Amino acid sequence: MCNESCGGKCCAGASDPLAGILHPNCLVMEASLGIQMDEPMAFSPQRDRSQAEGSLKKNEQNFKLAGVKKDIEKLYEAVPQLGNVFKIKDKIGEGTFSSVYLATAQLQVGPEEKIALKHLIPTSHPVRIAAELQCLTVAGGQDNVMGVKYCFRKNDHVVIAMPYLEHESFLDILNSLSFQEVREYMFNLFKALKRIHQFGIVHRDVKPSNFLYNRRLKKYALVDFGLAQGTHDTKIELLKFVQSEAQQERCSQNKSHIITGNKIPLSGPVPKELDQQSITKASVKRPYTNAQIQIKQGKDGKLMKQSKTVDVLSRKLATKKKAISAKVMNSGVMRKTASSCPTSLTCDCYATDKVCSICLSRRQQVAPRAGTPGFRAPEVLTKCPNQTTAIDMWSAGVIFLSLLSGRYPFYKASDDLTALAQIMTIRGSRETIQAAKTFGKSILCSKEVPAQDLRKLCERLRGMDSNTPKLTSDIQGPASHQPTVSEKTDHKASRLIQTPPGQYSGNSFKKGDSNSCGCCFDEYTTNLEGWNEVPDEAYDLLDKLLDLNPASRITAEEALLHPFFKDMSL
Ligand code: ADP
Ligand code: MG
Repeated sequence: MCNESCGGKCCAGASDPLAGILHPNCLVMEASLGIQMDEPMAFSPQRDRSQAEGSLKKNEQNFKLAGVKKDIEKLYEAVPQLGNVFKIKDKIGEGTFSSVYLATAQLQVGPEEKIALKHLIPTSHPVRIAAELQCLTVAGGQDNVMGVKYCFRKNDHVVIAMPYLEHESFLDILNSLSFQEVREYMFNLFKALKRIHQFGIVHRDVKPSNFLYNRRLKKYALVDFGLAQGTHDTKIELLKFVQSEAQQERCSQNKSHIITGNKIPLSGPVPKELDQQSITKASVKRPYTNAQIQIKQGKDGKLMKQSKTVDVLSRKLATKKKAISAKVMNSGVMRKTASSCPTSLTCDCYATDKVCSICLSRRQQVAPRAGTPGFRAPEVLTKCPNQTTAIDMWSAGVIFLSLLSGRYPFYKASDDLTALAQIMTIRGSRETIQAAKTFGKSILCSKEVPAQDLRKLCERLRGMDSNTPKLTSDIQGPASHQPTVSEKTDHKASRLIQTPPGQYSGNSFKKGDSNSCGCCFDEYTTNLEGWNEVPDEAYDLLDKLLDLNPASRITAEEALLHPFFKDMSL
């Protein structure tokens, strides 16, 4: 229902979610809710407190509680119509671009309903918001894709109301899952991905915190379309207007104002992806493994002149152990100019671990890079402009790798170069170089690292390998033995910092999240069922997901038909 005369077009659940966004001061609401206006209440985000907690912890807790209460009050102030309908109980998620709250709505008939309220940061671009909403309304609501119930807007504040799915913290349950549960988890993730890919949606941020899992109810939901983009034939109209990062960068460089065919002005506040990228760039660098990688940009097939070299790499990676040095350049493969593009582009720094000033002065290649570094596919990390739904399948592969190895996050990189180095240590440098050629990138690597056998790797990390001590510290690649700063983009991942490596076996984990469904799982004990006989099909599927070449990488539809899921039905 709208309190402005926008002709009822503002209903987010309707076919035109953009309308709701473009009409100021609209209250968008279904009429079936009863109106209850109580004082907002904030509950502790962590309910299970042991009595042994010190006063410091209690103070911290009170401080947090007060902060949450304040945030809830602010939200009521910003979008007053929320108070007519919901009691906001708690803050259950806080990211760079949104805050998510748990609320209840008193239905006129029937019980209280739990709702998740996603309050998008006011600087989000209207088209970006509308596209997120349209993904939820068009593709959501079935096949494990989160749907939307209502949307509220007041000035530049938008709140998306979704059904609330109580869910587990991935890290908390990771090592207590039975093998069968892992199979079910992956199957249901592919179901969601198949659904969105059919609509031409590339999610771009597939990771455990965006795939909610209620273990008790065996319910799953893919959430967060805040970074989604459309394929060339996307069925989500508004994704056609969502600019890629490339366009945005060009746009911001030119300071231009674009008017689309639909006359939607695309100038304005910093879009989410761009913002995210700048934040990623600014994030704290962490020392990682023994690999070094460099990415640089060839200039449209022209030969590079000799010039003074600038040792950027040694500056950038000064804290890293040096063993592998690699560079990525446009090889010209798959481009129109391929025939005229010499394969051996040379300049001062070619095949060295330096970047010369000529290379530095080149215009950066821009391509969509949104997402979380550890889950980014090689084609994303190397800025391949032609990215498809295959990037989500890679991310699903990284999740599967975590599930099979018991390590999360598996790759923990603060930048793309490090992430690429980490991939190389698992999938092999020669293989990565080979695959990159297929999408037009040339990677230079100073040291060859072999591909690892996925079964051996996972068993070693899980401690299932009898030849290896459980606390492995010699594994190259996964991040879990790097107890340093983690990415801010996944707040849950940071908990790993306190988790010693290899702490999977025989340990029980206590839940800690307010939104964990702890009703049945007060403690998570390791369930070894099935882990002693992981079938080859599991590693075959993993191998096909972590295919370095996006063109041959398994699709969601194919994955569901993989022998790994032979006795499971859609
Ligand atoms: P962001 O763009 O800030 O990452 P998300 O949509 O991913 O926002 O939501 C952040 C977190 O909020 C999720 O990781 C999840 O814990 C919680 N959340 C989001 N939607 C729901 C929902 N419908 N039900 C329960 N929790 C949710
Ligand atoms: Mg998210």
